[in-house]
Amino acid sequence: MISTPIMEPSELFTRSIGEGTDIVDKEMYTFEDYGKKVSLRPEGTACAVRAYLEHPSLSQLTPAKIYYIGPMFRRERPQAGRLRQFHQIGAEIIGEGSPQSEVELLSLLFDFFEQLNLTDLTLELNSLGCPLCRPIYREKLQTFLAHQVHTLCEDCVRRFQNNPMRILDCKKEVCKTATKNAPAPQDSLCTECDEHFKAVQDRLNLLGIAYQLNPRLVRGLDYYTQTAFEITTTKLGAQNTVAAGGRYDGLVHQLGGPKTSAIGFAIGIERLAALMNPAKIHNTPLTLFIAPLGEAATRMLLPMLFALRKRKIKSEMGNEKHSLKNHMKHADKLSAEYVVIVGDTELQTGKGILRNMATHAQEEIALSTLVGDIIGRLRG
Ligand SMILES: [Zn+2]
Ligand SMILES: [Zn+2]
Repeated sequence: MISTPIMEPSELFTRSIGEGTDIVDKEMYTFEDYGKKVSLRPEGTACAVRAYLEHPSLSQLTPAKIYYIGPMFRRERPQAGRLRQFHQIGAEIIGEGSPQSEVELLSLLFDFFEQLNLTDLTLELNSLGCPLCRPIYREKLQTFLAHQVHTLCEDCVRRFQNNPMRILDCKKEVCKTATKNAPAPQDSLCTECDEHFKAVQDRLNLLGIAYQLNPRLVRGLDYYTQTAFEITTTKLGAQNTVAAGGRYDGLVHQLGGPKTSAIGFAIGIERLAALMNPAKIHNTPLTLFIAPLGEAATRMLLPMLFALRKRKIKSEMGNEKHSLKNHMKHADKLSAEYVVIVGDTELQTGKGILRNMATHAQEEIALSTLVGDIIGRLRG
């Protein structure tokens, strides 16, 4: 686990993500700090690589497997699933070039999603080639689009010159139509990239991880090479990517380090949360609800509440001014298993009432041994 500053020199991002990308050109929060430009981090990979290069303890590990959790910032039009401050869980393997690292990261991702009971996720996969074969593909694409540049959207007219592959994932209908029969990146891969991509698919098949090839998947960052992937859902409307990533074999070198293979992913935490069942998150059942009737009862029960919590019994206590009826409603709302009721009468007799909320059965329970008694019952 690493934790990097949320602010970095702007140059780190212009050099890695690339000028001409939407993130760098339009979405970064950049400020002047004593004549130096700094930016709020729009993503975590560049920061992780910067940290990797600055800390020998990380770069001595081969490969270095690191992860981070934290806020990222992009100036976008806020809408469902798009926030200007959002949070990501990112993981990177730096120093490993074999297809095994793709599979390791992807199986980690799917294990994680499985633990969260998330289903209906699709892994989309593409290869973006390398500095050897990508220029050939770019040229093919430019040739294909040359006679229809005037039909493209404003952004894509600009992309046509400096980043034509981005036109493939433009969401505008005109651009989708223009690129309908465009050549696929896969068909222009050099032998090395082609073999790597096939090996990745072979290992995924081996592990039973289903995927779909998506020749339009290009990602909005310049540093990706070869494998790029997205995990999408049909449940979130337009902002359907829950996690994404890819290989970035050139980035470590580009930022001043030795030639080093690397790959990583990032998960959008807000989108993940939107996919999870909110009722399940907020309504994990309560074990015990303590219902005091009056101040004297509160003074007697308060130490017991904290003693129970210390022993990991999930408990809550109601407001002493509430009526018994209100306490019961509250306990019900929290899905409490048991309720302890104590009023003035119970204080006098030294015996509270323990109510089983499922069976509605009630019994007396000695107040002096309440904590031990409850723990015994629940653990017995
Ligand atoms: Zn290649
Ligand atoms: Zn477009």
